[in-house]
Parts: sequence; C-alpha cells; structure tokens
Amino acid sequence: MKKFFVISGSSGVGKGTVIKEFLRRNPSFRLSISCTTRGKRDGEIDGVNYFFLNKNEFQNCIKNNEFLEWEEFSGNFYGTKREFVEKCLENDENLILEIDTKGALQVKSLMDNAVLIFIAPPSIEELEKRLRGRHTETEEAIQRRLNSIKLEIENSRQFDYMVVNDTVENAVKELEKIILEKV
Ligand code: 5GP
Repeated sequence: MKKFFVISGSSGVGKGTVIKEFLRRNPSFRLSISCTTRGKRDGEIDGVNYFFLNKNEFQNCIKNNEFLEWEEFSGNFYGTKREFVEKCLENDENLILEIDTKGALQVKSLMDNAVLIFIAPPSIEELEKRLRGRHTETEEAIQRRLNSIKLEIENSRQFDYMVVNDTVENAVKELEKIILEKV
C-alpha cells in the first residue's frame, strides 16, 4: 500500500514553517484538509485550510463513523475524514497529514502504511525561551503550553522518526531524506 506521512509537533516549534517549505520544494505532495469546529482565523478559507464545521455537524460525522481519527484540542474538535485519505491514496497522490500526536498514533494503529514524523524543538529550554520571547502570553498560558508539549514529546516516542528543528533548512532537508525515499 502507498505510504503517507503524518507530521506532528507542538506549536511554537515552527512545524508549520517547515511543512510549508517542504511543500514549496515538493509540489507533488498535498496536505490533508482536516475538519474543525474552531473559528476561522483571518485569511483562512473553508475547504482550503480546513473544512469548518459546527459542533452538530462534527458530532454527526462522528456518529456516521466518517473520521479516521478525531481529537478534542484546546476546547475544539479536529478530525481527519477517512474518505479524504482513502481517495488521495487511491489516486496515487503523495499525502501529508498535519495532526496532533494522539491523532497520529490513532492513525498508525489503523493504517500500517502511515509513517509518523515528529518535529521537535532543539530543547525544551530553547522552546521556553522562544515562547517567552513572544511576550504574547501569560505565565499560566506558557506553563499550560509547556505541559502539553511535554506530553506530545512523550507520545512521540512511538513515532517512526524525529526531526529536530534547529534551523528550517536542516529540518526540511531531514524531512526530505525521510519522505522522498519512501514515497
Ligand atoms: P490549529 O487550530 O492551530 O490550526 O491546530 C491546532 C492543533 O490541531 C495542531 O496541533 C494541529 O496539528 C492539530 N490538528 C489539525 N487538524 C487535525 C486533525 O484532523 N486531527 C487531529 N488529531 N489534530 C489536528
């Protein structure tokens, strides 16, 4: 079965930047579009960044067993449609999922052609410095975020690969080394 790639990593780690750069250099890959109940951010487009659903619609998808995996994350629901992934693989498309570590492990337990890659900060201390450097969050919010990052690092022990994001260039190269030989 064709392999696909599930990438996780906490926000603040620069995961988004690394994936974006990977996609720019490897345009044959497409990013899976998840469903979410969170509000649309500025510039986000329904059907491009996410499929934006209300809680009822999301619950219905759960009931109808439409999700390959779903999770509650910071009070909002996020899920990957089974059909979306299956269609892409059937069409021989190169697919990347960007989801949280719990969702990633769920996918792996269901599909053994999933390759799990964790994007890690160079160190927790470095990440703490970055988060504090933003000056946008309260101490409590920073602690909460650090705790969830520690949990994600714990989950990532069951991942297939880890890429340390010391610089975007190095991380993208590492990612290419892992992905391009398997696809
Ligand atoms: P954001 O709200 O910043 O777009 O995403 C928040 C978190 O939800 C990120 O860690 C992202 O990887 C995760 N996420 C996005 N889509 C999915 C999904 O379909 N399933 C799961 N489990 N997590 C997702």
